[in-house]
Amino acid sequence: MNDPALAGLPSPIALDQVIAARAPWDHVVRTGQTLRIIDLEGNQAVDFLMYSLLDDTERYSAQDTIAAQANIFLKVGSVLHSCDGNPMASITGSPVAYHDTIGGACSCESNTLRYGYHTKSQHACVENFLLANGRHGRGKRDMVSNINWFMNVPVEADGALGIVDGISGAGLWVDLRAHMDLIAVISNCPQINNPCNGFDPTPIRVVIAG
Ligand SMILES: [Zn+2]
Repeated sequence: MNDPALAGLPSPIALDQVIAARAPWDHVVRTGQTLRIIDLEGNQAVDFLMYSLLDDTERYSAQDTIAAQANIFLKVGSVLHSCDGNPMASITGSPVAYHDTIGGACSCESNTLRYGYHTKSQHACVENFLLANGRHGRGKRDMVSNINWFMNVPVEADGALGIVDGISGAGLWVDLRAHMDLIAVISNCPQINNPCNGFDPTPIRVVIAG
C-alpha cells in the first residue's frame, strides 16, 4: 500500500488493473465501493457508462444528472443519476477541475462526418462500448449519453462547444463511490483526430476498493 496512486482509498483493494490504450473494459462495482480511474500518462479521455446490476434498463442519465445539479460539468460532489432519478454514484475526489458529460462518444460515423471518409475504419468508443456491453447481452439500444472523464469540453458564452487540450495530467484521477451495485463500462478512447487524447491514446489504470 505504499503506492501513492492508491492513497486515500479504502481497503481492501478488490481490483487493480491497467486498461490498454484503445481498449474496452467493464466490471461490477458494489454499493459503497470506490472506483478510481487514473490517467496514467495524462490527457487521456475515458468514455464511461454505467448500468444498475440489478436491472440494466436503469442506467446513467446525463440529462437527469445535469438537471439535478443544475450544472453541465461533473466535479467533486456531483451525484450521477440514473434514468429513474436514483443516485448511482458520487464523485468523491478528483484533482481535475471538471469532467464532461455532453461531448458524447466518438464513433465511425461521427469521425466520418467530422474528419472525413478516410477515418471510417478507425476504431472508436462506440465500438468499444458495444464490445464490452455485448458480452452481457446489451446492444445499440442500450447506448446512452456517456461521461468523458478527463476530457475538456468548454462551453462558450453563446453555447458553443469545443474539444480542446485536456485539463488532466499524468497520474491524475477521479474517484466514484457507488450508491448501488453497478456495472461500470469504459472505452479508453482511441480518438486520434482531435486533441482529446493528445493525438496519442495511452493506457489508464482502474482500481476498485472497499
Ligand atoms: Zn472516443
